[in-house]
Amino acid sequence: MASASTNAFEMAQQQFDHVADMLHLDPQVREILRWPLREFSFRIPVRMDDGSMRVFQGYRVQHNDARGPSKGGIRFHPSETIDTVRALATWMTWKCAVVDLPLGGGKGGVILDSATLSISEKERLVRGYVQQIWKNIGPRNDVPAPDVGTTPQMMGWMMDEYSKLVGHFTPGVITGKPVGGGGSLGRTEATGYGVIYTVREAMKHLNLNPAECTAAVQGFGNVAQYAAIGFVEMLKGKVICVSYWDREDRVSYTVSKTDGVDPHYLMSITDQYGSIDKNKAKAAGYIIEDADAWLGKDVDVLIPAALEGQITAETVKRVSPQVKILAEGANGPTTPEADEVLKQRGVFVIPDFLCNAGGVTVSYFESVQNDMNFYWTKNEVLEKLDSKMTIAFQGVLDMAQREKAYMRDAAYMVAIARVVKAMELRGWI
Ligand code: NAD
Repeated sequence: MASASTNAFEMAQQQFDHVADMLHLDPQVREILRWPLREFSFRIPVRMDDGSMRVFQGYRVQHNDARGPSKGGIRFHPSETIDTVRALATWMTWKCAVVDLPLGGGKGGVILDSATLSISEKERLVRGYVQQIWKNIGPRNDVPAPDVGTTPQMMGWMMDEYSKLVGHFTPGVITGKPVGGGGSLGRTEATGYGVIYTVREAMKHLNLNPAECTAAVQGFGNVAQYAAIGFVEMLKGKVICVSYWDREDRVSYTVSKTDGVDPHYLMSITDQYGSIDKNKAKAAGYIIEDADAWLGKDVDVLIPAALEGQITAETVKRVSPQVKILAEGANGPTTPEADEVLKQRGVFVIPDFLCNAGGVTVSYFESVQNDMNFYWTKNEVLEKLDSKMTIAFQGVLDMAQREKAYMRDAAYMVAIARVVKAMELRGWI
């Protein structure tokens, strides 16, 4: 495999190249798939509450739309770059294809720490984002959604702004909207629960008893919270720690309890950005440890669910020999070098774009409900999600067994084959 990189887009390209070699993919097809089809870079001037003007850098990248409209979240993060957006857009193409959604891959971003803006400044920013990009998005060409730093309320504002600009109510332009404002029940839980459906299937395959298994989770935002709840409530296993970025101290911590954390209690002391009140946690008997402590725990399952590039050639050395499953809740948490180490150690990896596909799957269900103007119950949504995730997991596992391939490579094989087939059917190649 190619040389070390923690640039997310180079990582996405390395993963693709590796499987493209295995598939002997045509060089022209590779050239299309290695790069996004379209990229938009724009400045968003925003009037601040104190009357001053700040200008934010925004992006929207559409990697591939051969299978349907581009789909992918908008991330607000201080270390966002065009390359993180490109990488995330590329992974969205593979993610939608691996769960067999009729969608392509896209992603958006704005460079900022959204916690530094007031609610009204955020509303002006997200409306400004739509004003810059509305001609290039829409239910039939590119459908954004929330990601790190963005919320359902922001999606509601974006949908409203787009509807005003095009002159008619268009809920299907964006997903992850609030329930009651065009959103789907089950979207909040979707990604975290989806992670757990795949972990459940992996445990069946490895003959593990879920109730005897332990997990360590990185992050305690939307994905991590529902993954932790799912691990405890659906699988009856124990989550012995979660971690988070402390907004006051500007460092991350691991919050542990050897007899298992109570995810509902921790959620009750966590702010909307996934930052836990460590003093309350300490008072409730939790131990506060250093940032990477979660990674070295003697657990059966590791669930990185924070940011990309967390398990590297260096940090992978801390992974306990007890770890049997790595369930990638986050996008791109493992570098290709760390991946090699995990492969050699026989860790069963559920790759990000399969593992965390629950969010986009329910986003897709949301747009289907918007189109029908008829809404399903939460149970109906979660049952459909479970079925989609289980079929996708089995498809990738079958490919891995048939081709004697690593799970990540097998997931790429399934996804790339579907995208290439759509490009062929459309006469692109
Ligand atoms: P979020 O903003 O709700 O939560 C992020 C969490 O990570 C917070 O608890 C934050 O404190 C923590 N964090 C940030 N930096 C950290 C660090 N260095 N160490 C430890 N913790 C850290 O975000 P989210 O929606 O839960 O997304 C998490 C990951 O999952 C991202 O990679 C995102 O792209 C991916 N993802 C999200 C969804 C979704 O539906 N939300 C879907 C698919 C993939």
